[in-house]
Amino acid sequence: MDTQSFSLLFAAFLLATLAVKLWLSSRHIRHVASHRDSVPAQFAQKIPLPAHQKAADYTIAKAKLKIVLLTLNTIAVLGFTLLGGLQWLSEQLVTLAGRGMSYQLALVAAVTVISSVIELPIDYYKQFSLEEKFGFNKMTPGLFFSDLIKHSLVGAAIGLPLLWVTLTLMEKAGSLWWLYAWLIWCGFQFFMLAFYQNLIAPLFNKFSPLEDESLRARIEGLMRRVGFASKGLFVMDGSRRSAHGNAYFSGFGAAKRIVFFDTLLSRLQPNEIEAVLAHELGHFKLNHVVKRIGLMFVLSLGFLALLGWLKNQVWFYTGLGVTPLMDGANDAMALILFMFALPVFTFLFAPLLSILSRSNEFEADAFAAKHSNAQDLISALVKLYEDNASTLTPDPLHSAFYDSHPPASVRVQKLLGT
Ligand SMILES: [Zn+2]
Repeated sequence: MDTQSFSLLFAAFLLATLAVKLWLSSRHIRHVASHRDSVPAQFAQKIPLPAHQKAADYTIAKAKLKIVLLTLNTIAVLGFTLLGGLQWLSEQLVTLAGRGMSYQLALVAAVTVISSVIELPIDYYKQFSLEEKFGFNKMTPGLFFSDLIKHSLVGAAIGLPLLWVTLTLMEKAGSLWWLYAWLIWCGFQFFMLAFYQNLIAPLFNKFSPLEDESLRARIEGLMRRVGFASKGLFVMDGSRRSAHGNAYFSGFGAAKRIVFFDTLLSRLQPNEIEAVLAHELGHFKLNHVVKRIGLMFVLSLGFLALLGWLKNQVWFYTGLGVTPLMDGANDAMALILFMFALPVFTFLFAPLLSILSRSNEFEADAFAAKHSNAQDLISALVKLYEDNASTLTPDPLHSAFYDSHPPASVRVQKLLGT
């Protein structure tokens, strides 16, 4: 591979990815708009027309914002790479910090900060204009910025040591550095799985034990039926930030906890909450969670091995607009270039992960129908779709590409058949 060929290949994939994404978004917008005026027959009894239209408008508004974000993102990637942004940044930092570890850490930090600053106005607009307009925003600007500061501090506290270890391995651990880095990364993932709920989540939300006795009894009954041990049921004050509802698990082994958003509890009946939880328990019992983590580990091993090879290829740097330092460490630069290049070359595989995820959703739905009640899950799904203003009529191709969950109509159809 030579410099020019790799530059051309990268530019071609970058533009092709953007073109496919823009095409999918515009298809989605047209499809949703053309189905705006009538509720699909299957849901006609359950969802009023104004709610359906609100979902259409919300979906279209989000899709339009995504088009802006995609375009901006592509310009930023081009600016950093082929247009020389990273090269310029690197030269400034070499002058300031020399060519050692502090230069490398500063380079990654600077790229992270610049990328976040570029996206910040769009995040702000999304929360306080778009989400606000549709009644989902519960945040104040004060909370938005205190979240931003906390996220940045937590990110730096966790990310910088991890980065330092990775860069040290890259420099000193020989040709198998990527294998050691992978082991550290896997260990770190397990650490986060075990301690996220206790160490980090409380920085952002309050968690209190679920107090509703009859609901507790109902949920504990379900957990006994399916043989699931949990360290506790908690309610999270999700309503501080958003009106969207959810439920999740955290931890693993004996330390598993179930966390409900207060927004979910306030909206669903106890039988519906049980059905939603049965679906989530299905993901656990059917080993979806373990398989997902396993797949992530395998993929990351492959990608790290690839980076191990790329970091020694001069064209990988020069093809992306960077002249490697002759007598300094280029490892941080290799990491950054890899982070920019990887999504460009892997985007077309995204539907494979979506297909896997959707088949897991069907299995979890079937599990819920078996151990709880299909009708309860259907009515919960309908309420959640309505409350979240999720569209019932997504563009089929857009959905196939991106959606981790099957369209509501397909899920309900399958549930009715069980
Ligand atoms: Zn699910």
